[in-house]
Amino acid sequence: MDLIVKRPYGTRDMVPAQAYKWHTVEKLAMETAEQYGFKEIRFPTFEETKLFKRSVGDATDVVQKEMYGVFAQSTENGKDEDGFTLRPEGTAGTVRAVLENGLLNEAMPQKVYYIISCFRHERPQAGRLREFHQFGAEMFGSDSPAADAELIAMAKGFMDRLGISGVELFINSIGCPVCRKQYHAALKAYFEERKDNLCDTCKGRLDKNPMRILDCKSPVCSGIAKDAPVILDFLCDECREHFEKLKENLSVMGIEYSVNPKIVRGLDYYTKTVFEFVASDIGAQSTICGGGRYDGLVEQLGGPKTPALGFAMGLERLIMTMENQGCDFIPEKKCDLYIASMGEAAAKKALSLAKELRDEGFWVEYDLMGRGLKAQMKYADKIGAAFSMVIGDNELENNGANLKNMRTGEQIPLRFDDGFIENFSNIVVGDMFSDTMNNI
Ligand code: ATP
Ligand code: MG
Repeated sequence: MDLIVKRPYGTRDMVPAQAYKWHTVEKLAMETAEQYGFKEIRFPTFEETKLFKRSVGDATDVVQKEMYGVFAQSTENGKDEDGFTLRPEGTAGTVRAVLENGLLNEAMPQKVYYIISCFRHERPQAGRLREFHQFGAEMFGSDSPAADAELIAMAKGFMDRLGISGVELFINSIGCPVCRKQYHAALKAYFEERKDNLCDTCKGRLDKNPMRILDCKSPVCSGIAKDAPVILDFLCDECREHFEKLKENLSVMGIEYSVNPKIVRGLDYYTKTVFEFVASDIGAQSTICGGGRYDGLVEQLGGPKTPALGFAMGLERLIMTMENQGCDFIPEKKCDLYIASMGEAAAKKALSLAKELRDEGFWVEYDLMGRGLKAQMKYADKIGAAFSMVIGDNELENNGANLKNMRTGEQIPLRFDDGFIENFSNIVVGDMFSDTMNNI
């Protein structure tokens, strides 16, 4: 087959046979978020470009190299600075939506979560796509380290529910604008001395935001960064205390962590706590989850001074980890009944019975291909129907048919008129129960 159009480089299709994996992750994400009091928020796939420039940060890789601009005439208010961009992450859109919808006037803290697609123009490889998906959570209004611990606990609790093991938690504090000023100066002095060896991008970062150099993926720059001053030595009293309390809270919840002073995160808006969950077995793209506190961002986007924090995890990387570790996914639902029919009158009966059962919530299938009886039964087998039923002239005449349990081969007579739904329902539910007991 010579396809005229192929999917864009770095994107994936989710085919129906893989859907149960995504549904597992999405369902458990929603359930976990609810347990921690987070409610779902949805916001547009694209936003005005300036939202990302001002929040994610002009000097970040995401804004400088990875953003997908969208062709657009103008913005609603006519001030088209630089058009629209497909969201590269979810925090900026969440903060914008939280402000625009007045959520900060409601009971604090406000806790929201999202499951979204994100777009970054990166070099595709395993675990790195141009369209990928995130489960993210954001909390507004609390400056307490207990909030940081709660968010970390939720991320960890979610991965535990998925059955993922061997994921390490790294935490760090990158301080506040007060302590960071001194740190920036020390960092700048350190890199200034080694400037000639830095990559061109990092040379540019030296003035704008020297902390970004610590995040550079070039081996030369990260080699130089190895011995750079660490932020933890520069924290002010408030930030230091916040970090100590966070560690205490994590210990109280029995959550293991390591302090890694090299974690600075790729986005500009973070303050104080930053953290990453790193898997040991999915190769180079091993950071499953990243997050932290961003106490200045709400104000930076025109809202009231509001402490806030959040995390985001990559669903592709989560699913990859689950596959590698042989974790269980929630199995797909199976078809309850396939009704095979012979002849036109029987086919009509199949239609009306199916309608009746579907209205009661059962998954019922019948022939749509004009197949003979043998081929119909083969199809019933292929789709894994739990029960089948054959309707022909005899069954029409008797107003009833045998219900065949496809797993055990047992045949149970079932009348079409007298208590049809109730009897069918009892048989199907009874079979599900005995099947479950057999599997225990
Ligand atoms: P990385 O260092 O891997 O580039 P990042 O710091 O850019 O990650 P974040 O912006 O913190 O990532 O996004 C949170 C999570 O989203 C990451 O930990 C990862 O699981 C996932 N993620 C980020 N970019 C991609 C991508 N291009 N493809 C797939 N997943 C991604
Ligand atoms: Mg990145």
